[in-house]
Amino acid sequence: MITVMKFGGTSVGSPEALQRVTRIIMNEKNSPVVVASAMSGVTNFLVSCAERLPVNRENIIAEFRKKHVDVAAQLLNDEQMAEFMKDFNVRMRDFKNLLEDENASKDPFYKDNLTSQGERFSTLILSHTLRAAGAKSVALTSEDCGICAEGRPLSGSADLQKTEAMMALKVKPYIDDGVIPVITGFYGIKGDGLPLTFGRGGSDYSAAVVANAMNVDLLEIWTDVDGFMSADPHIIPDAIKIDEMNFGEAAELAYFGAKVLHPRTIEPVRMKHIPLNVRNSFKPEEPGTTIHHLRKQMESMLMSVAIKTDLSIITISSAEIAYHPEMVARIIEKIAENEVVIYSISTSLSTVAFLVHSNDVKSILSKLNTLSPGDIERIEVKNDVALVCAVGDNLLSKCGVSGDIFAAVKEAKANVEMISEGASDVSLNFVVPMSKATDVVKILHRKYVRGESNEGL
Ligand code: ADP
Ligand code: ASP
Ligand code: MG
Repeated sequence: MITVMKFGGTSVGSPEALQRVTRIIMNEKNSPVVVASAMSGVTNFLVSCAERLPVNRENIIAEFRKKHVDVAAQLLNDEQMAEFMKDFNVRMRDFKNLLEDENASKDPFYKDNLTSQGERFSTLILSHTLRAAGAKSVALTSEDCGICAEGRPLSGSADLQKTEAMMALKVKPYIDDGVIPVITGFYGIKGDGLPLTFGRGGSDYSAAVVANAMNVDLLEIWTDVDGFMSADPHIIPDAIKIDEMNFGEAAELAYFGAKVLHPRTIEPVRMKHIPLNVRNSFKPEEPGTTIHHLRKQMESMLMSVAIKTDLSIITISSAEIAYHPEMVARIIEKIAENEVVIYSISTSLSTVAFLVHSNDVKSILSKLNTLSPGDIERIEVKNDVALVCAVGDNLLSKCGVSGDIFAAVKEAKANVEMISEGASDVSLNFVVPMSKATDVVKILHRKYVRGESNEGL
């Protein structure tokens, strides 16, 4: 039996955290395959470096080096440290070359290469710490494993079939020999052998891809909260830990803003029926949340509420557009040319409205401007909106549920800008001004997750 164990940035962010994680891995009964993020703060540091280049190369290298060597030195004795430094210097030389390579910095995928560097060093420290604790372990990069990726800069997806074939050759033999592989999260390798990242928070997705490729028995996502909760505990301090949820519910919530899982984590495990546990690396005794195919009926009306912020509504008006589906198709085709995500679409007789990320508005408008003037009368953009995603049992089949939910929106004095009820059978989604989103979630959570009826936020 094999378990893929993924540890996020905070879980590997300090010597104490790394020691806790080492104990968790050593206590695992199945054969562990570990996937790790960069130490907390490191990817943000690299993103800001990408913006500061070409200045400050020496400072960047010195700061990056110190951050990792200081942590390793607190975990390893002199002899172990000497071994670590051999591997560290090889990876550090590649990092330095990358920073100094003028040509590489012109590549559209340069940021993928630079920002994925943190994972190469956190995994090295963790693997050496496991060895220091008596385990057999090897630190493997995504290149070493053959995690294959394709797509646009900073938003790759894995090629699951190729990755499965590669990992069977390159990683399986280690497991058969009782060696614990510690694999870099966050990125895969394009056809030309260079890194492509899976978007921020992408190590969860990497771990799901590894789980899929190795046909494992369980995926564990170890993070800094007790499990998948009824809302982001940093917004709703009395959020409740969910014991059990199904794949569809977790996927919808992750897609619509529950940052605890990268939005694409579920599919690679769902398709191979691999259960996923979300657990707290700071409280390993807690069972966390199990995500699988089926779950028991809930008592409360809502299970969890998520918010996706920084969205915009683009409304396109054209006379009787509803009677011209070919015009709607042309508009969607134009938007699709940029491969942007459309979070919701709604139509009326003479308008079609799209909900998209605010960062994509400019490029969408420039595409729409290439349509013939006969297709479009007017385009309006409403910025600073957020989508609220409410997940619960039979939301659509229970009479009066939407009425209850929109009463809570009214209580927050928020306007509903757009509704997408019925698009999914597990969630009810609607758009409100960003300034009101937190209030709406607080009221929904208090009334329909916790079941408390008193007024106010
Ligand atoms: P990691 O570094 O382990 O990947 P992240 O910061 O990416 O951790 O994700 C964990 C964070 O997700 C939590 O600290 C919490 O603030 C946030 N979060 C948002 N929604 C939820 C939710 N429904 N349940 C749990 N955590 C959530
Ligand atoms: N280190 C990457 C990030 O900060 C990936 C991850 O943490 O999952 O986005
Ligand atoms: Mg994360």
